[in-house]
Amino acid sequence: MPAAGSGQRFGQALPKQYMPLAGRTVIECSLAPFLADPRCDAVVVAVAANDERFARLPLASQARVCTVTGGNQRADSVLAALESIQAGDDEWVLVHDAARPCVTRAEIDALLEVAGSDSDGGLLAVPLADTLKLEVAGRARETPSRESLWRALTPQMFRLGALRSALQAARSAGRSPTDEAQALEWQGRQPRLVAGSSLNLKITTAADLVLAAAILSQRGDR
Ligand code: C5P
Repeated sequence: MPAAGSGQRFGQALPKQYMPLAGRTVIECSLAPFLADPRCDAVVVAVAANDERFARLPLASQARVCTVTGGNQRADSVLAALESIQAGDDEWVLVHDAARPCVTRAEIDALLEVAGSDSDGGLLAVPLADTLKLEVAGRARETPSRESLWRALTPQMFRLGALRSALQAARSAGRSPTDEAQALEWQGRQPRLVAGSSLNLKITTAADLVLAAAILSQRGDR
């Protein structure tokens, strides 16, 4: 779980993963379905070097949870976590944003079923619903076709060895993928797109936190 972002776009002193949500924090909500899942052997959380908050959360003392120091970019944080895992290259890893607190067990099940039977792995994603605009100097220049376009969500699921080497190759080439699938695409792989829910939103602004609270409360997660 990459959780080393400073949340600059969020515009608050407190990084978004530590904002209160549903009686907990955002990151506790994001981790909950994995910690409740017996198929999950261990969770590695990449936190910022100066992070003092994670260690204070009750779940930080669980035996299955450990931390590593994240990096400057999301991909650096994910790679740091992967390099700390002592497991065979064929083990499956799921990468999930600390800032996505509304992921469901049903989405994780769908991902495991589809991506887990594909050598290229896969990711949760949602087909694009809105019309896209290419902006130039504040004006709509063009409308790219939205056909075949999806929004990438997390979790994303790959074999440990394949993902680690794809991220190492990206780093050596001086490239920083914005999700894990992109690093594998650069290697010629074609991860499966698994339909997720648009409710699996990423907390980016204060408005997203209001939506996430409503989603979790409607599910009875307070
Ligand atoms: O900034 P963004 O919302 O894309 O971040 C997605 C996830 O990646 C967040 O959980 C954030 O904490 C994490 N991240 C990280 N290391 C970075 C930047 C972002 O772990 N250097």
